This record gives sequence, structure tokens and C-alpha cells, in this order.
Amino acid sequence: MNNFGRKKICFFCKKKIDEIDYKDINLLKRHMGIWSKIRPAKDTGACSNHQRKITKAIKRARFMGLMPYTSR
Ligand SMILES: [Zn+2]
Repeated sequence: MNNFGRKKICFFCKKKIDEIDYKDINLLKRHMGIWSKIRPAKDTGACSNHQRKITKAIKRARFMGLMPYTSR
């Protein structure tokens, strides 16, 4: 009926991760694409709840100097 394929379950929901640690750079990196841009939820399969937390964690990490800012 639809061609949207299978619904991806959010990585964090699956792992039962509630709080995302901004110090977990490797994890955050997976949610950043080219030019250090935050990848959209539809790209990573994150639910809106966790997407918001990822965004917050990345911004925090940038603020702390752990992650690069978007370079343009
Ligand atoms: Zn989730």
C-alpha cells in the first residue's frame, strides 16, 4: 500500500537511553553530517523527543568546545 518502507525505531528509545550526554562525542558525531551540521530526525530515525535532546547535547558540546561549530 505505501512505499515508505519500514518504520525505523529510534536508536535511543531502543537502547532505553533517556538522557544524552553531551560529553559522548562519538555518539553525537553520528548525528552530525557534513559541515558539522545536525542531521535531521528523518535521517537518523530519531524520534522528536530524542532529536530535541540530541540537538541540545550538540549545542552544549559546541559551547564547551568539544565539538566544532558549523563551518560555512
Ligand atoms: Zn526516541
